[in-house]
Amino acid sequence: MTLKTGKEYVESLRERDIRVYLFGRKIRNPVDHPIVRPSIDSISVTYDVAHDVRYANLATAKSHLTGEKINRFTHIHQTTEDLVTKVKLLRLLGQKTGTCFQRCVGMDALNALSSVTYEMDLKLGTDFYKRFIEFLRHVQRKDLVCCGAMTDPKGDRSLAPSQQADPDLYLRIVEEREDGIVVRGSKVHQTGAVNSHEIIVMPTRTMGEDDREYAVSFAVPSDTPGLIYIYGRQSCDKRKLEEGKIDQGNVKYGGQEAMIIFDNVFLPWERVFMAGEHEFTGSLVKRFSAYHRQSYGGCKVGVGDVLTGAAATIAEYNGVQKASHIRDKLVEMNHLNETLYACGIACSAEGYKTASGTYLVNTLLANICKQNVTRFPYEIVRLAEEIAGGLVVTAPSEQDFKSRVVGQYVAKYLKGIEEVPTENRLRMFRLIENISMGLGAVGYRTESMHGAGSPQAQRIIIEREVDIDSKKRLAKVLAGIEMED
Ligand code: SF4
Ligand code: FE
Repeated sequence: MTLKTGKEYVESLRERDIRVYLFGRKIRNPVDHPIVRPSIDSISVTYDVAHDVRYANLATAKSHLTGEKINRFTHIHQTTEDLVTKVKLLRLLGQKTGTCFQRCVGMDALNALSSVTYEMDLKLGTDFYKRFIEFLRHVQRKDLVCCGAMTDPKGDRSLAPSQQADPDLYLRIVEEREDGIVVRGSKVHQTGAVNSHEIIVMPTRTMGEDDREYAVSFAVPSDTPGLIYIYGRQSCDKRKLEEGKIDQGNVKYGGQEAMIIFDNVFLPWERVFMAGEHEFTGSLVKRFSAYHRQSYGGCKVGVGDVLTGAAATIAEYNGVQKASHIRDKLVEMNHLNETLYACGIACSAEGYKTASGTYLVNTLLANICKQNVTRFPYEIVRLAEEIAGGLVVTAPSEQDFKSRVVGQYVAKYLKGIEEVPTENRLRMFRLIENISMGLGAVGYRTESMHGAGSPQAQRIIIEREVDIDSKKRLAKVLAGIEMED
């Protein structure tokens, strides 16, 4: 069993022959591309923490298949403690990277598939679970990164997959053969896709009888012929091509999203976990999204810790850290952030065992968690911007700061308190800019809205899962309209 280091992970990516396009051109070497590399380094941290004795309990787990030590990102949750530990690990990684470290989607896909394929076999007499377990062994043995690919382009949202003018707007099976299937379509907003060894595809919504060909799930190596990646732009991404790092804000790490095109990709049967069993699409979507909504109660909280630290630091650099309204704003940032964490822990602690033995989160509370994530980070960002001041968006560039002509003016007039060099102040403004609206917003602000499902998706589940009739009964009993049973 391998427990890769971050370095070994980076090297393993070089062995792939992957087709990635950025700015209209194929990237020859994505691993060393300045726009891609910070996102690879971000995933590396998920490997390095597994070798750090301080985090051994958080970052590693015992495989339920082999009993061996594995990276927690390849683990199937066996207890509620595993679920709680996952949230703590994700918070830690958010703190260390200040962005999206991309590896959780794959973990969430593995866990969702482990219970759903088991239940499919129970009901249908199929062997999807056996195939899945073989795949899981491979992932654990090689300590791989998996991309959990769910979101289809969706075309006209008012139409079902089979009703679309272009039938490929949801990924589908175009051919069924004796040795496997051929699929065509696309998955969009795919976190860490280019940095993954395996792509795990799942349907994006509940499918009906007419949408059988769209009820498909499988795992495919990321460099399989027919797979094409189109790299997602991030605000200010070309700053990574500039000399100097200050203007990047987060000088170490970044996130990554890409479109994946499946241009008639062949999958052998042993890699297929669903092929037409539309009645199980609903539970796969619900379980995967619940796990990923739980994840946000960890990762976004860790990044929130970084942003709160940046706001407190810039307050100090500006000489206002003692002002009561600043202290109160920092209290509010912490209050909001810890509320998200409380939701992540709560949905984990209230998790339960499914038929396969895999533990699932409390799906109602996981959706509440994510619903709060669609709001609180926006307020946390607003407070950070208010504390920091306008230089978050008006500070001159690093080149100006280092210019032999105007650098002296930047250093002189943008200084805050005497003890702190202007450069440190500029760095802190850039970090706040990064997390709030620039390069890092993919891991924090806008992703908090749409990642793991847009707000309305959670509201649908909340309405479905809350027993409103029992609440009406409570009210009627106390109002003397009905008798208590
Ligand atoms: Fe993990 Fe958060 Fe990134 Fe999702 S958004 S992959 S939970 S770090
Ligand atoms: Fe995400």
